[in-house]
Amino acid sequence: MKYYSTNGNAPLASLRHAVVRGLAEDRGLYMPEHIHRLPDEFYADMASMSFHDIAYNVASAFFGEDIDLDVLHDLVRDTLSFPIPLVPVSDRIFSLELFHGPTLAFKDVGARFMARLLSFFIRQNPVADATVNVLVATSGDTGSAVANGFLGVPGIRVFVLYPKGKVSPIQECQFTTLGRNITAVEVDGTFDDCQRLVKSAFMDDTLNHHLQLTSANSINVARFLPQAFYYFWAVAQLRALRPDVSLGQIVIAVPSGNFGNICAGLFGRRMGLPVGRFIAANNANDVFFQYLRSGTYSPRASVQTIANAMDVGDPSNFARILDLYGQSHEAICCDISGATFSDGQIGETMRRCLRETGYQLDPHGACGYGALCDGLRDSEVGIFLETAHPAKFKDTVERICETSVGIPARLEAFMQGTKKSVPMSARFEDFQAFLLAQSDV
Ligand SMILES: *Cc1c(COP(=O)(O)O)cnc(C)c1O
Repeated sequence: MKYYSTNGNAPLASLRHAVVRGLAEDRGLYMPEHIHRLPDEFYADMASMSFHDIAYNVASAFFGEDIDLDVLHDLVRDTLSFPIPLVPVSDRIFSLELFHGPTLAFKDVGARFMARLLSFFIRQNPVADATVNVLVATSGDTGSAVANGFLGVPGIRVFVLYPKGKVSPIQECQFTTLGRNITAVEVDGTFDDCQRLVKSAFMDDTLNHHLQLTSANSINVARFLPQAFYYFWAVAQLRALRPDVSLGQIVIAVPSGNFGNICAGLFGRRMGLPVGRFIAANNANDVFFQYLRSGTYSPRASVQTIANAMDVGDPSNFARILDLYGQSHEAICCDISGATFSDGQIGETMRRCLRETGYQLDPHGACGYGALCDGLRDSEVGIFLETAHPAKFKDTVERICETSVGIPARLEAFMQGTKKSVPMSARFEDFQAFLLAQSDV
């Protein structure tokens, strides 16, 4: 399968090229040329299939032409090393718990798949690719998922850039205590500075001459497509739990920031997944919500909220959604509706859900749950993606809900490690010199 750029000014790329490069040469995002519909028999059998088998079927539709099927089978199995249960919260609302992975957030799925796929390509052609250096700027969650996904993977080094003093202690220890092929770079600046340093590095001729650099952001097809796996698994679980639900009645609400996660769900629907419609749930950073309302997309600077992994003012995967729907606002509005929540409304939703159902939401999942409470029609059944474990936002959750949140053992284990990071100014020349010094090692 070939991949084209959303900007339309770059040559068609192989999967390998798209994964190793991340962004297309014209700065567009890669899209698969075809989205194959899965056969009716697959949908008929889905409710009795295992998660691995479902995911393997979905993965084959995208990657089956480019990767040996037994290799792909192992890739999928190694990626999905943890459960993703669908848990009833109320009569008509179900939580897809995506937080049972190593760093307790949904990004584990995409990061683990991308790490394994990149490593496969490097093993296949070691001389050409040398060591691949993955650069990732993080405001918290992305860095931990990517660092843990790539930990110990041969042929790959990861540099996680994060703003000094601006990520939570729990998040920080998830990427500063790992060592081995993971280097944490503590930037004396903001998240925007980190992102600028990474972007400048990708465009810098000197660096690109000496080092193979790539991005592990959700712009990378290998990180974003595998997220389709669990949409199929969610519907399969719902059909097993509630055989009475007819297929067009399923609504999926997705807490959205950069829109990679929901975009994977939209791809799933194109493959025939029987979902009636999607709701994109935003926090106060609601440029997509405003776009649905007005038809005009006006990116703006992000504001800080308690659902901070969704603090994005110009979602990069918006370009993919536009492309998927042929730039039609009307077509987009047919499949996706929006919702937006202030911090006050997120807090109120968390308290109400706990009081009425006993289910503890995190601030991101709360936007998904709240969107279903407000927007579900009488005949519909809703699934929201619970994108992170509440313990990742322990202080916020405890303050708002006036309860105590236990820390899972695997999160506790990170907090026992010793922090190690490289201090860095926000000046590109310093970052460039640091990276160049790495090319000799
Ligand atoms: C990254 C993240 C999101 C937003 O996902 P996108 O794919 O960027 O839309 C939502 N919730 C949590 C907990 C996250 O880490």
